[in-house]
Amino acid sequence: MNIHEFQAKQLFAQFGIPVPKGKEIKTPLAAQKWVAALNTDVYVVKAQIHAGGRGKAGGVKITKDRTQVPELAKELLGKTLVTHQTGPKGRKVRRVLIEEGAQIGKELYLSLLVDRATGWPVFIASTEGGMEIEEVAAHTPEKIVKEQIDPAVGFQGYNGRNVAFGLELQTIEPSLINPFVAMLGNLYRLFMEKNASLVEINPLVITQDKKLLALDGKVSFDDNGLFKHPEVQALRDLHEEEPLEIEASANNLNYVKLDGNIGCMVNGAGLAMATMDVIKLAGSEPANFLDVGGGATKETVAAGFRILLKDRHVKGIFIHIFGGIVRCERIAHGVIDAAKEVGLKLPVVVRLQGTNAEEGRTLLLESGLKVDVATDLWEAAQKIVAMTGKKRKKAAATA
Ligand code: ADP
Ligand code: MG
Repeated sequence: MNIHEFQAKQLFAQFGIPVPKGKEIKTPLAAQKWVAALNTDVYVVKAQIHAGGRGKAGGVKITKDRTQVPELAKELLGKTLVTHQTGPKGRKVRRVLIEEGAQIGKELYLSLLVDRATGWPVFIASTEGGMEIEEVAAHTPEKIVKEQIDPAVGFQGYNGRNVAFGLELQTIEPSLINPFVAMLGNLYRLFMEKNASLVEINPLVITQDKKLLALDGKVSFDDNGLFKHPEVQALRDLHEEEPLEIEASANNLNYVKLDGNIGCMVNGAGLAMATMDVIKLAGSEPANFLDVGGGATKETVAAGFRILLKDRHVKGIFIHIFGGIVRCERIAHGVIDAAKEVGLKLPVVVRLQGTNAEEGRTLLLESGLKVDVATDLWEAAQKIVAMTGKKRKKAAATA
């Protein structure tokens, strides 16, 4: 789960990480009131969406004229902001953060996330803040400092000093070494206590009066740890999530919406990935990733069906089930019931393998539904693509 920048900054403040004074604002009138209370030299109005790249996309406005602030808030509120992270559809701005402007001396990059290779938390820091870290990693990897933290031991002062000296803070601003190390300790505490999977500050700035300040904030949480943190769950903003994905998670289905036109219903994440690959190989695009889980029941299948059909781009459905724990004839019953219930008109190709596959196939063939049954994966993929039309553009020819 992700949260907004203003929420991340509230968390930072709770954990002793310095942030500019600011407030979440939803109307120009509220902006006017807050400006009077904030009373500073420079005001910054920032669009709150779950995506970065706002600065370059016009989502961060800076002014010294306080009378301008409500106008800038009005400009952003209700606007759809397109950044390189939102995709072409963009995201609607429903709130802005209005905060003090900082006098920036230097912009750093700092994050803490889980290292997939070791499974340990790892700090990533760079003197090239404000920029996209992926770019820095690709072009100047030597400017990235990494420090792994053994979770059994926890964060130690030397970990912090390794990062500080890795950034050459002793030449940039030696008086900041101790506050910087303390900040990393606080960041680590936040990360562990809240079951975060990522905490990112980009930029972390050194102000002209030589203080550290988190000017941006991104925090992602591990969904499996959310049950421990009702206060974190309360920060969820459903406007930022795909409605079909919300419905799927309410039904315990792992669903990710994609842009193609073949709806996929599969059990097991690995098989779901393979199914998507084969659809692409056959010349089309999957409309989703959907893992109905190993213990799929008639009800889960029906719920999955309803979700697939709400995506108006879906022109056909590919049901691909391996009966290991789940029995194929049960899936067949689920498909038949759900298809009748929703008055299914779209072509369906089903591939069942494993426990009671034969029984499941017979049930489907005798159901009177427009269902095509395949035994082989490649055959199934070709059938559904033939029924829905090829989608994929040919890869551009390379000289
Ligand atoms: P994004 O990462 O979405 O582009 P940021 O919060 O990082 O958004 O803001 C983009 C840039 O705007 C920052 O790199 C910084 O230069 C400037 N900025 C953001 N907040 C402030 C602030 N409070 N004071 C001064 N400059 C700011
Ligand atoms: Mg940023």
